[in-house]
Amino acid sequence: MGKATGFLEYGRKENYDVDPCERINNYSEFHYELSEKERRRQGARCMNCGVPFCQSGMVFGGAMTGCPLHNLIPEWNDEIYNGNDSHALARLLKTNPFPEFTGRVCPALCEKACVMASFGDAVTVKDNELFVIENAFRKGLISPKVPSVRTDKQVAVVGSGPSGLTVAELLNKRGHNVTVYERDDLAGGLLTYGIPNMKLDKNIVARRIALMSAEGVTFVTGKEVGKDISVKEITDKYDAVVLCCGSRKPRSLDADGQDCAGITYAVDFLTLSEKVRHGKTDSASAELSEGKKVIVAGGGDTGNDCVATCLRQGAAEITQLEIMPAPPLQRREDNPWPEWPKVLKTDYGQEEYIALRGRDPRIFQTTIGKIYSENGRIKSVEIVKVGFKDGKLVKEEGSEKILEADLLIVAAGFVGCEDSVKDNFGISLSKGKIVCENYRTDNPKIFAAGDAVTGQSLVVKAIAEGKACAKAVDEYLMGYSNME
Ligand SMILES: Cc1cc2nc3c(=O)[nH]c(=O)nc-3n(C[C@H](O)[C@H](O)[C@H](O)COP(=O)(O)OP(=O)(O)OC[C@H]3O[C@@H](n4cnc5c(N)ncnc54)[C@H](O)[C@@H]3O)c2cc1C
Ligand code: SF4
Repeated sequence: MGKATGFLEYGRKENYDVDPCERINNYSEFHYELSEKERRRQGARCMNCGVPFCQSGMVFGGAMTGCPLHNLIPEWNDEIYNGNDSHALARLLKTNPFPEFTGRVCPALCEKACVMASFGDAVTVKDNELFVIENAFRKGLISPKVPSVRTDKQVAVVGSGPSGLTVAELLNKRGHNVTVYERDDLAGGLLTYGIPNMKLDKNIVARRIALMSAEGVTFVTGKEVGKDISVKEITDKYDAVVLCCGSRKPRSLDADGQDCAGITYAVDFLTLSEKVRHGKTDSASAELSEGKKVIVAGGGDTGNDCVATCLRQGAAEITQLEIMPAPPLQRREDNPWPEWPKVLKTDYGQEEYIALRGRDPRIFQTTIGKIYSENGRIKSVEIVKVGFKDGKLVKEEGSEKILEADLLIVAAGFVGCEDSVKDNFGISLSKGKIVCENYRTDNPKIFAAGDAVTGQSLVVKAIAEGKACAKAVDEYLMGYSNME
């Protein structure tokens, strides 16, 4: 423990946010780091509890709580306070290969489980994690480490999201020869095309890809396995193939009249927005939101990213529809600490909309019943209140209302892997997820990890999947594994 009285002396202090009305003028990240002195004090607030639930990564009350990577949080908080930066880094990298991603986008399952959160303000674990890694980059503590010994094993990783990157990083460090295939023009999966730049600057992803390349990982971008390269070609060429292709099939709306222009899925919209930002696609022909009345169908995190992106593009009006009722403001009695708190969250995009327009863009317990079009293009939507009867969704008759709409973004979640996964790879899927036993599919040479196996989840969980899968692949290739 850094300082016995740390939590008594110092209050919780998070990184500063840029004012919502200011930050919507650009796509830059909007959190400013605390000063080094202030940050080290935040490390001192950690009491190194006897039962550090923060690093448990366990399921309580049906949801995960604590860090799925079992990050050694009390250890590096202590090193932060004592100024031992290289020790802090070593302990962090022991469990988390990419803290610069989780330190930015993780919902911080650790903080909800922090013992301090049971009676007050949690330790700023996520911000502390970000400090350790970014401070290390700033101070030159991170440089390419090429494995001194190479095996003769060749591994192909299909998909370069956080799970694929983790598999590649760890198997390369182990000495295997790894090639990552990515169909997009840039590596990173949803870290690059999906999560908006204001949450995760794309230069941060590029920095990691460059480091991995310097350490010996080969990236082949713009090539889809199963289309541009046959599955037979890669299974013949490589000793093992790891499928990290994500859970990319979007859930569609159950509404009449979808056969018109002006309707798009969230990831397509966010990907297009990012490509237009970099001049990769002609903005004149792209379906963006400038000047439009936008409906975002889906009140979750992805929907929120769409709200924030539309605000930056200059949408005229945004309404976000959420089918579920609004959660309570405080934990209910049947949802005690250290369970994940099922309370109302107002995310950064919603916060920006409230600051700018004076109203929450969300309407709860509401869905779209019909879509009306004119000359082949969306004109309005009929929204309807919903309730639940015997666990089933029922539309409330008479509650229908018409909202004008120039663009409808469907952010209603994902139902699993794209159909091409089963068709091209010939492996078994169940409810859209790849069926595996210890990360091995029913083709003995093909492994799988990440959202493709679990369903759409979180970056931290994709990294945890990638770690466990890399170990399984190493065991298969070598007959044993000393990877953790
Ligand atoms: C809009 C959005 C915002 C999100 N925000 C957050 C957040 O803030 N925090 C958080 O923790 N989680 C967030 N998530 C969830 C998180 O991004 C995912 O859980 C995570 O990226 C899954 O990682 P993955 O490696 O399994 O798959 P993905 O990141 O989906 O990567 C799969 C990759 O495989 C490639 N691919 C697929 N098939 C092939 C093929 N045949 N050949 C070559 N390449 C192929 C795809 O192009 C893609 O690049 C968000 C998700 C979305 C959609
Ligand atoms: S990865 Fe997420 S859950 Fe784990 S310590 Fe970091 S912020 Fe917390």
